[in-house]
Amino acid sequence: MSEQPSFIPRVIGGSAMQKEVAKSYNEVQFDRQEWAKGEREKTEVEEQIISLADEVTSRVLIRFGLNPLTVPLKNIHLIRSGEWKMKAGGVTMLLEQSIYLHETDTLLQFAHVVVHEMLHMKSHGAIEIKPTGATDPGAVRLRYKINEEDPFEVSLVEYRSGMNVKSRPDGRKHFEAFTEAITERLTKTILQELRDREIFQVEQEQTDALVTTESKNRPKIPADEFVVLREEAGVVKGETFVYQKERSVLETLMKKIMEQNPDRFFTIEEVFDLFVKNFITGQMLELGRVIEKTFGAGTYRKLGAYNEDVKGLKVFVDAL
Ligand SMILES: [Zn+2]
Repeated sequence: MSEQPSFIPRVIGGSAMQKEVAKSYNEVQFDRQEWAKGEREKTEVEEQIISLADEVTSRVLIRFGLNPLTVPLKNIHLIRSGEWKMKAGGVTMLLEQSIYLHETDTLLQFAHVVVHEMLHMKSHGAIEIKPTGATDPGAVRLRYKINEEDPFEVSLVEYRSGMNVKSRPDGRKHFEAFTEAITERLTKTILQELRDREIFQVEQEQTDALVTTESKNRPKIPADEFVVLREEAGVVKGETFVYQKERSVLETLMKKIMEQNPDRFFTIEEVFDLFVKNFITGQMLELGRVIEKTFGAGTYRKLGAYNEDVKGLKVFVDAL
């Protein structure tokens, strides 16, 4: 067993015995990572970036009074291009306690996806024990026996991840857009700080040399939204930060909160800290109170109910 506990500090629902089963499942799962289909060994420099990302993402935990967490290398599965089936560059599986990453062409883009997924993994996580017979998609079912005549089944689902939370008992998801907006906004700040490291020097110089022209060619993209730019056979290729729409709605909401509470907030970053606190520690109360006080009772819940519908969320937030 590792010295570090698993990434899931909380188990909701179930009996005391079911909770024990769930907790020991988490611990086993944290340690038992199997080689994935299409996975390849990480290079030395990729391992260096992972360790750097681990250090800087843990600083966010420390800032909110939590202990730093390490994502072991074996819990990060790097998948070869041809074998990657998803649109996003990475995915974090909370129940499995694994991160899957698509290999990248540049180190800056690799750092971008590693930091993003690590923040998901280190944000507040909880799992829920469903009543026997529930048929939630994606549930992990564990069977155990008190004695031969008395088998029990424990059904586990993801309950909370960052700001994402499910309502009970219907299992509807809330706050997906906010979770991604917070994750990527933090990632962007962290990556801007990491750029100066020697490891990224060559790529950063290329990006700096191309950014002015590329911004003119793509005027809709602000210069600081490029993760990396490079030239290949006369063609400029680049990666940008993601979840732009989600971050834009979050920005609008934070600005409104700041403007309507001039005694409490002087900067947007102070408002953002409330969102990050919720995302990292799982404590919803403080942010919920500020939102209800500013926009009226029930607003927090309504914001959450849009889940990943960023278009609907934008209309709602613009009208607040
Ligand atoms: Zn994400």
